[in-house]
Order: sequence, then C-alpha cells, then structure tokens
Amino acid sequence: MYQHVDSGERLIDIRDLRVWYRTTRGPAKAVDGVNLTINRNEVFGLAGESGCGKSTLAKGILGVIKLPGYFEGGEVDFCRKKSDSTLICEDLLKMSREQVRRMRWRDMAYIPQSAMNVLSPVARIDKQMLDGIFEHTNWSKEKARARMYECMDLVGLDKAVARMYPHELSGGMKQRVAIAAAITLTPDLIIADEPTTALDVNVQQVILQELKEIREKLKLTLIYVTHDMAVHAEMADRMGIMYAGVLMEVAPVVDTFHDPYHPYTEGLISSIPSIGGGRERMMGIPGRAPSPLEYPSGCRFHPRCPKVMAICSEEMPTLKQVGPERYVACHLHDEYTFEERANGGD
Ligand code: SF4
Repeated sequence: MYQHVDSGERLIDIRDLRVWYRTTRGPAKAVDGVNLTINRNEVFGLAGESGCGKSTLAKGILGVIKLPGYFEGGEVDFCRKKSDSTLICEDLLKMSREQVRRMRWRDMAYIPQSAMNVLSPVARIDKQMLDGIFEHTNWSKEKARARMYECMDLVGLDKAVARMYPHELSGGMKQRVAIAAAITLTPDLIIADEPTTALDVNVQQVILQELKEIREKLKLTLIYVTHDMAVHAEMADRMGIMYAGVLMEVAPVVDTFHDPYHPYTEGLISSIPSIGGGRERMMGIPGRAPSPLEYPSGCRFHPRCPKVMAICSEEMPTLKQVGPERYVACHLHDEYTFEERANGGD
C-alpha cells in the first residue's frame, strides 16, 4: 500500500485529479485536473453552477465513482494523525475497493442530496443504522443501539423514529436520519452533497444550523457542496469555486465574498438574491457553462468573461497562490506572485 509520512493539519491532499465519464462522443471530463488541500476541522465549501464537476469531485474524494465514470489520473491522499502527531497519508486511488469500502462510515461519510439514495425503502431505520455500525465495528447490540439513539438525538429525532420505515418520514426527517447515520462512527470527514436542496426553505435553515452545531461539537471536517452561495456564506471557512472541471479560485470565505479575485466568482456572488429583491441570474455573465465533452481553448471561462483579454483564449491559466490562503486561476493575476502581493501589490 502506498504511504508517506508527513506532519501538519492536512486531512485530504488532492493532486491533479481527473475523473472522466465514457460516452459515445468521447470522454466527458467532469473533473479535469484539480489540486486542493482540505485541512482538519474546517468546513470547505465547494461552489459552482450545475454541471461544473463539484459533485463528481466530492464522489472522487470518497472513491465512489461508478461506471461509466472512471479515474483518469491523479492522487487523493487521506491523512491520519498518529499519537506522536505525525501524519500517515495514503492514496485512496491506490487502495482496493474493499479497503476504501472499509474506510466509509469509519473515516469518511457521505450525506447525499436525497436520503433515499442511502436508505432502503423496505427496512426500518434502526435496522439500517445498526447494520451500518455492525459492518464496521464489533460493538455489542447495546452499545450500537445507544450510539444510534445518541446520534438521532443530536439531529433532533425522537427515538420512535427508529422503528419507522423511510416512507413514514417527511423529507426533512429522512435527511436527519442520513446525517445521524453519517456521524455514528464519528468519521474524520463528512461530505455533504447539496443535503438540503430538496427541502423547503424553513426546514433547510433548521438542518443547516443543526449540521453546523454537530460539526463544531464533534470537530469534524466538512466538505459542503452546493451551488447556493448564500449557504456557503453561512457555513464555510474556506471555499473552492469550480468551473468546467477545474478550480478557478480557492480562498477563505470572507475574502471570497468581500474581495473575489476571479471574474467567475464575482458572477456567482452577483447571483445571490438581495433582501427584498428577486434572484438575479448570473448578472453580467452571459451564456452557459460549456459541455465537459468539449471545453473552450485557453481559459475555459473566456467565452463568458467580461474581462477577457487576448491571451485568455490561447493559454489556460493555472491555479496559483497569490496570497497567504488565496489561489486563483486567471491571467489578470499573472503578474503577481504571492511575495509581490505580500509586499504591497494590489
Ligand atoms: Fe477572464 Fe481571462 Fe481571467 Fe479567464 S483568464 S477569467 S477569460 S480574465
């Protein structure tokens, strides 16, 4: 098994990850060269329009890409902290399916958009949650049941829900069951993929608040995937903005909203509905995101960019560091290095 020893607070280290889908028209390059580090105990928000590759990236981190999807290349290191504080990092893409399966629930868990993607309609909730626990532990029935009730309580579910079938629960309750199941073994990482999108706005707010409190209480690392920038503003510590299979900007959430460096980030922020106003869709950015079957040359955003320059259709900008925690892929920032900005560059 591939391993290397390191120190620091990294939990996930992604290098040049490419996840493609086979189609009759050639490969659909949903994730096409992502480099990203996720730190321990942070909430990382993954944003971008539908079809930009954020859900595929989330599933790629978990190693759950199903055919016709496949890993075209790259590395996804998952780092565990040893008692002497050094990190052991293992590349998930070099592990067997069985090794990755064993890591799910225990080390990393997934909350999907629809709980029915993880719940069986024909089994009671307690059976499903307990089966998950027994698959990964040798706990006694009493200990497993106590932990199940503890997690249900954390998400505001009554014990009686354990004896119900999924069809007896509302959408919000089913999502709470999915969250309770994800936290039973206190994994280091939870990936929540649009977990409240299908719910009405009031339930959405309550569940977001609960998720936030649980994360703080259990000190989990959370990757939160949604196109909804307002949710990121509320939830995230740092954000990554995806477009056409690549990351365009990575920055702390405050900087993302107050001083975005990438024109696409500016466009996403302009789509947040203002108080008392309607949703303004991608103000100032015409057109649609390109198909993953055929990306534009150079910067993949150039056909829609209000700040496009001659170089933009010729050379693809790479994601480079332009501040202590700031990364951007845009030729507007070519002239700056991290050091130049630190010394007073704008
Ligand atoms: Fe716009 Fe050019 Fe920057 Fe791409 S590289 S976002 S086209 S300015």
